[in-house]
Amino acid sequence: MAQADKVVVVVGAGFGGLNAARALRRAPVQVVLVDRNNYHLFQPLLYQVATAGLEPEQIAKPVRAILRGQKNFDFRLVEVRGLDFAQHRLDTSAGPIAYDFLVLSHGSETNFFGLDSMMKNGLGLKDIPDALRIRNHVLTCFEHAMLERDPEIRRAKLTFVVVGGGPTGVEMAGALSELIRLVLVKDYPRLNIKDVRILLLEATDTILAAMPERLREAAVKTLWRKWIEVRFSAVVADFDGDRVRLKSGEVIPARTVIWAAGVKAAPLSGRLGLTAGRQGRIPVEPTLQLPGHPEVFLIGDAAYVEANGEPLPMVAPVAIQMGQHAARNIVNTLRGKPLQPFRYRDQGTLATIGRNAAVANVYGIQARGLVAWVMWLGIHIIQLIGFRNKLFVLLNWAWDYFFYERAARLITRD
Ligand SMILES: Cc1cc2nc3c(=O)[nH]c(=O)nc-3n(C[C@H](O)[C@H](O)[C@H](O)COP(=O)(O)OP(=O)(O)OC[C@H]3O[C@@H](n4cnc5c(N)ncnc54)[C@H](O)[C@@H]3O)c2cc1C
Repeated sequence: MAQADKVVVVVGAGFGGLNAARALRRAPVQVVLVDRNNYHLFQPLLYQVATAGLEPEQIAKPVRAILRGQKNFDFRLVEVRGLDFAQHRLDTSAGPIAYDFLVLSHGSETNFFGLDSMMKNGLGLKDIPDALRIRNHVLTCFEHAMLERDPEIRRAKLTFVVVGGGPTGVEMAGALSELIRLVLVKDYPRLNIKDVRILLLEATDTILAAMPERLREAAVKTLWRKWIEVRFSAVVADFDGDRVRLKSGEVIPARTVIWAAGVKAAPLSGRLGLTAGRQGRIPVEPTLQLPGHPEVFLIGDAAYVEANGEPLPMVAPVAIQMGQHAARNIVNTLRGKPLQPFRYRDQGTLATIGRNAAVANVYGIQARGLVAWVMWLGIHIIQLIGFRNKLFVLLNWAWDYFFYERAARLITRD
C-alpha cells in the first residue's frame, strides 16, 4: 500500500483531536476525524453560557467549517463504542471504521466521585446541554422565588452552591454573582438581594491549587468582595435536590448545586479493555503510544503522562501540544525516523472572577486585578476558534461591561 493511502483516524474533535488533525494537513495520509458532536467546543468559556453571558454558537464551531480547507480531511458524526486492536477497527454507531493509525482524544466527563445523589440532582458543566441546563435552572429559580410566599423556601430557591475551588468553580461562582447582583437585580425589582446566597465549597484548604499562594489569597478576597461565601474543608456528602448535607453534618437548604469538583476520563476509556490509573486516565508511553499498540496514540484528558513525578493536568494546552506531538510522531513513523518523547511546555494558569478581577500566572508573570483580567480577555479571544466567534464574543463582552447586561437570559425548554 502506498504511504498516501494510510488512514489516520482521530477520535474526538476537542482540543487534542482537532490539533492532531490540523497538524497532519501536509502529511501523506488521509485524516478521518470522528466525533459524536459536529462541533469543536471551547470549554473554558462554557461557564459564560451557563450564566447567560454568551450563546452556545459563540464558543463552538462546526468541525467541517474549521477544517474545510484541508484536502486530506474527512469528518464522520458517529459515537465510538469500542475498538478492535487486532483488526485495527473502531466500532461506531455507523458501523466499523478501519485505521492504519489511530489518535484517541475522547476527553473527559464530570466526576461525581460516586455521589449518586449529586449525579441525580446536581448540575455538571462539561458540554453545551449542561451549560443550558444550568442557565435554565438558575433563571427558573428566580421566577419561582418571585412566586414563593414562604420566606424559608424562597431563600432556598435563591441559594446557589458551587462545589469545587478549581478555575471552573471560581469562574462559575464569580460569573453567577455578577449575573445576579448586576443584572437580575434589575429584572426582579421586588427581589430582596439579601435573600440571595452564593457559596463556593472546597474540600481542601485552598482554592486554585496550581496558583502561587499570593494569588490564591487575592482570589479568595475578591470572591468575598463579590458576596461569595468561600468555605474550606467543606466536603459534600449528599444533595437531595432541596438541601445540601456536608460531611460535618451542616445542612444548607438550596435548590441549586453546580458541581465543578473534577473530571475523569470519558466512558470510552473503560471500553478499551486497558488498565486505567487515576481519574480513569490510561498510562501511555513517553511517545504517547499505547503500550503494545504502536499504531495507537492516546492524548489529552484521557491520557496519563507524568512530568517531574506529577501527572500532567487535564487542561487544554496539554491536549493541544499532545495532539501536535502525536501528529509529528505519526509522520516520523511514516518516514522511518525515531519517535520523540512528549515534553509539556507549561504556559501557566489564569482564572477570572468577574469584571476587572482575575489572577494570572503566565510565562512566569504573576498578576491580579485589572492587569490579570485584561490578560485573561486577550488570551481567551486569541484562543477562540473562528473570526466570527472572536468578534461576537468581544462585542458581547464590551456590551455587558458597559451596560451591565447579560443578553442570553432566556429560559428554554430542554
Ligand atoms: C467547564 C470547563 C472549563 C475549563 N476551563 C479550562 C481553562 O480555563 N483552561 C484550560 O486549559 N482548560 C480548561 N478546561 C479543560 C479543557 O477543556 C480540557 O482539558 C480539554 O478540552 C481536553 O481536550 P481533549 O481533546 O482531551 O478532550 P475534549 O476537548 O473534551 O474533546 C473530546 C471530544 O471527544 C468526543 N467524544 C468523547 N467520547 C466520544 C465517543 N465515544 N464517540 C465520539 N466522540 C466522542 C467529545 O464529543 C469531544 O468533542 C475546562 C474544562 C471544562 C469542562
